[in-house]
Amino acid sequence: MSELVIHDAVVVTMERDRRLLERGTIRVVDGTITDVAPTTAADWHASADRVIDADGMVAMPGLVDAHRHTDFALVQGLFSDLEGEAVLKEALALYHSADLELDESFFEAAWRLACLRQLTHGVTTVNAMDFTPELGARALGDAGLRGVVGPELADLLKPASARTQLAEARAFIENYHESYGGRVTASIAPGGEAGCSRDLWAGVADLRREYPDLLLHTHLYDTAEAETLAAGTGASDPLTLLEDLGLLDERTLLTHLLHADREDAHRIADAGAHVLHCPTVYSYFRAGERTWFPLPALREFDVTVALGLDDPFWFDCWDLFQEAKHARLLANFEYGAQQWASYDLLETLTIDAADALGMADEIGSLEAGKRADVLLLDVDTPRLRPFSNLPSVLTNSVTAGDVSTVIVDGEVLLDDGEVRSMDVTDVYEAAERERERLQTRLGWESSLAGSTPPEKSLLRRVSARPIGRLVQHYARGAVAKHLP
Ligand SMILES: [Zn+2]
Repeated sequence: MSELVIHDAVVVTMERDRRLLERGTIRVVDGTITDVAPTTAADWHASADRVIDADGMVAMPGLVDAHRHTDFALVQGLFSDLEGEAVLKEALALYHSADLELDESFFEAAWRLACLRQLTHGVTTVNAMDFTPELGARALGDAGLRGVVGPELADLLKPASARTQLAEARAFIENYHESYGGRVTASIAPGGEAGCSRDLWAGVADLRREYPDLLLHTHLYDTAEAETLAAGTGASDPLTLLEDLGLLDERTLLTHLLHADREDAHRIADAGAHVLHCPTVYSYFRAGERTWFPLPALREFDVTVALGLDDPFWFDCWDLFQEAKHARLLANFEYGAQQWASYDLLETLTIDAADALGMADEIGSLEAGKRADVLLLDVDTPRLRPFSNLPSVLTNSVTAGDVSTVIVDGEVLLDDGEVRSMDVTDVYEAAERERERLQTRLGWESSLAGSTPPEKSLLRRVSARPIGRLVQHYARGAVAKHLP
């Protein structure tokens, strides 16, 4: 039996009754929280394998990044100063360039760097959608983190056929679902109406029937052409596409919805599906578009919203506290002040996200019976003291830089700033080596002063086949939409 006691923390339990303890003690036995109660003098001398004096700290549940891609984590810094269209072109060139011959060592280094960033930013659980799910499952598992990993299925974007991609997804589910003591699970992750053919969607529906407990994780309504793209698969709109295939229910996670409206929000609520919002990536690259996430309508119909970083390596920030701040600022900018209460924002990062992922029995709050995924934030600093209204401090002032200790399943993975579950030097070295190899192959220049994309034309770097498929799909949709 292994016991951990954390005492004298300000405990933000994130229980549904919103209980806060000014001086609290969290007891953990074999990775499960057994008690959260006011600290007593006896706790200072508790007999446990580990006793943490958390005076001056806030204890809260580990954060949940509800939507992230990871494969290209090593491009961080290259894209930061490009404008929206150039980013999409360069991303396409990178993701689909056959002559790059990126091997496993590149993606393994990316995943390990992502795990290191995730851990040190206090993100104990990630819901990921990637082209290299096996490497992801292993990196998350070995780092001691928790993750739902979905092999990204997109036959209009990836060279492999729908059949091959579906077979690989099935193999991934068989090998990795509920691995690493249950910390790593699998999802079914079609890329969305923009990346999948009708055949692929039909295969996804079969897969879901075979594994009905798995989450269905997809992008939806992220472009103005969403309805035309859905028409390319024979559906009148993206939600109907999912409905027709039996894919819209309480185990469905819909990401982005930038071009969804009030009626769509109503349909999502009726189905019991959940929504994942990634404000930073869209405002960073698409500030000119006057279409925004339909938060008021989702609120009106009581849809659960969780937050995700999406592609943090495009805009160089892995901080979910900042993501929450951006969600607040952008909603206020679009719809008027005070769209989010501070506590509601904290819920999107913790218990609401756990709820959306179907993991609320296990994580998302600090209460007896749940797994011990705990953050300690150092708030004993002139930047933050003195304070009242802790939810406001946690969503307006605190950053990931204040994360001091991270515990997952009762294991201390980050211990007062020291990473315990990964070899940090090894992660840096692999990341630097693989990044340098990539830049040499691409001709992408970077220095301390900035980065410059390669001059070689986009088309020469991209396999034309998937692009051709996407264009055909779009054209089919445009024709279908204009038929009587
Ligand atoms: Zn995404």
